[in-house]
Amino acid sequence: MRFLITGGAGFIGSHLSEALLDAGHHVVVLDDLSTGSMRNIAHLKDRPGFSYTIDTVTNEPLTAELVDDADVVVHLAASVGVKKIVEEPVNTIENNVNGTDVVLRKADKKKKLVVVASTSEVYGLSTDVPFREDASLVMGATSKHRWAYACSKALDEFLALAYGRERKLPVIVVRFFNTVGPRQSGQYGMVVPRFVQQALAGDPITVYGDGTQTRCFTHVHDVVAALQSLMASPQAIGQVVNIGGQEEISMMDLAKRVKAMTGSASPIVLVPFSEAYDEGFEDMPRRVPDVTKLTRLVGKAPAVNLDAILRDVIGYFS
Ligand code: UDP
Repeated sequence: MRFLITGGAGFIGSHLSEALLDAGHHVVVLDDLSTGSMRNIAHLKDRPGFSYTIDTVTNEPLTAELVDDADVVVHLAASVGVKKIVEEPVNTIENNVNGTDVVLRKADKKKKLVVVASTSEVYGLSTDVPFREDASLVMGATSKHRWAYACSKALDEFLALAYGRERKLPVIVVRFFNTVGPRQSGQYGMVVPRFVQQALAGDPITVYGDGTQTRCFTHVHDVVAALQSLMASPQAIGQVVNIGGQEEISMMDLAKRVKAMTGSASPIVLVPFSEAYDEGFEDMPRRVPDVTKLTRLVGKAPAVNLDAILRDVIGYFS
């Protein structure tokens, strides 16, 4: 099969590209390198069946051609990373909404299967954990730019589901929960690569807020496996599906775990949110996925535990 992966030079996209090539498929990557990097796909460049184009999905004629040539489109291209999102809210909204609009319109012409990447951010300030796909979303104030990302992704979901229902376009929406692993950059705010790099360098490990906020981290290999299984599952079409690990940990405990596993002498310091981010930031206190639907659809849920995830990331940066 021929896969078009938008955002394929990004962290998740590059791992997915590799897995699809390993499975004998053709992969075409479309990426504007806004947060992706040629480094992520350097090892794929010479592989048979692989090609890439550096451009944006909002280049409509180009995207139309690439979508036409593909059997399946995995739309991962988006503005990501809380830090970047809070600092560049206009780009975030425009990229995420317009990009998905273009991809869905082009895919609709020949009814190509489209996987739309969404995020656990859409659950917003909900405290109704674990988060089920059919739960209500609780958005924060519009003055807090973080929620522009959540809303842009929620709108992507609405649009994808609307194409599915009204135009019979086969779509699958996936909500990622804190995907981590080798190649993820800490540059845009992601906590695991940041803590690991700080610990390895002997720099202070910066826990934002009071460190009681929790997350469930998911190994990128589990995410890639879930994506591949969902794309092969006819029952997944028209569905919104959480993809996330089950081990909930506070950011303070994460900092301690990273410090212990790296044998680092770094101090753990608390940094107020007002110092960590521009105005317009508000954190989510808890984020835990309900993976009942994923398990029902593909028979398994992400299983790589946090220690194994951290070992992999530490190995990558060592
Ligand atoms: N965080 C932290 N220190 C950092 C970066 C992030 O304590 O150097 C916190 C952040 O405030 C959030 C959690 O780690 O509570 C996860 O942040 P990330 O940006 O990785 O993902 P999010 O789940 O917020 O999208």
